Amino acid sequence: MKSYVFPGNIEEEILQINNGQIPYMRTAAFSALVKESEQMMLQLINCKRGKVIFYTASGTGAMEAVVTNFVTLKKKAFIISGGSFGHRWKSLCDYYTCPNEIFEVPFAKDIDYDKLESAIIESQPDVFLCQHHETSTGQLFNLKKISDICHKYNVSLVVDVISSFLADPLDMDALGIDICITSSQKGLNIAPGLSLIVLAESVQNLPYARKGYYFDFAENLKNLERGQTPYSPATTLFMQLHARLIMDVEKGANAIVDEVRNKAHYFRSLCKKNGWEVPAEVPSNCITGFFVHKNGDILFNELLKQDIYIMPGGTPHYFRVSHLGVQTKEDLDELAARIKEIENYKLN
Ligand SMILES: *Cc1c(COP(=O)(O)O)cnc(C)c1O
Repeated sequence: MKSYVFPGNIEEEILQINNGQIPYMRTAAFSALVKESEQMMLQLINCKRGKVIFYTASGTGAMEAVVTNFVTLKKKAFIISGGSFGHRWKSLCDYYTCPNEIFEVPFAKDIDYDKLESAIIESQPDVFLCQHHETSTGQLFNLKKISDICHKYNVSLVVDVISSFLADPLDMDALGIDICITSSQKGLNIAPGLSLIVLAESVQNLPYARKGYYFDFAENLKNLERGQTPYSPATTLFMQLHARLIMDVEKGANAIVDEVRNKAHYFRSLCKKNGWEVPAEVPSNCITGFFVHKNGDILFNELLKQDIYIMPGGTPHYFRVSHLGVQTKEDLDELAARIKEIENYKLN
């Protein structure tokens, strides 16, 4: 299988981890694994005095946890909506009746940061919710500009970095981000099922709102002091995460980002050669979103027949190719050739 979806192709040595009986988690060994994973995570995202909450849940679970524990403490949320993931913040806030205001960003466009500043002055929110990379369009937002505005107007900053962590440069301390969210199946390149919340020192030890049982910050943080989770963790995934983090720390976040960037740039050069438009104004390294000319309605299934997986984009003729995981230039050459071949199928 050639995977250009999330998490992408994974090395055998990771896939083989705990391919046998399932270990028990209420042990000193498992606690050590969790604690080490926390430290490695903090190092990779650069949040020196941070804490990491691990949930056995996909990324949306961690987004929900932030809303039920943190956003509900606030008077008003301000949400960047540049696609379906931005809209998810809005849905969650509405679900939990958190007052919110939305700032719409057109498909694949960057934010107009001057307009954003005016909107913040007007709206006077106390918490800002956004994505670093809006994965539905491939657009990367400028966190430096966002964090400057948030700090200027004293707005707490929460960023969903689920698809940018380890794909695009990210330094939580330098940017002064209060909370980052990520999950296992994107840059960490293991199976879906774990999500992680990084809490900067600025938002630790708050009297968090207690609006959800399973995701309760206080309960999770209390258990994490001894390297445990309150409820049964996905043990095998934690083991894969630990192994992945060791590999990643050894390589370093910058080197990993460089690798992903090289793959993205290479594939974009192939798009250019084939005349496939890449609409994102500032594309993330994580994915390339592009329009094919012809046969967009059959492309996904025709590739699937060849055991090649790409992501449909929700817009006719628009597709997304992930650059996370194991992927060579030859793989990308081959992918582009197959897409071109299918574009040229003569259909009656
Ligand atoms: C993948 C992703 C999520 C989480 O989706 P899940 O299916 O719940 O893992 C959230 N935000 C962004 C930007 C994503 O790319």
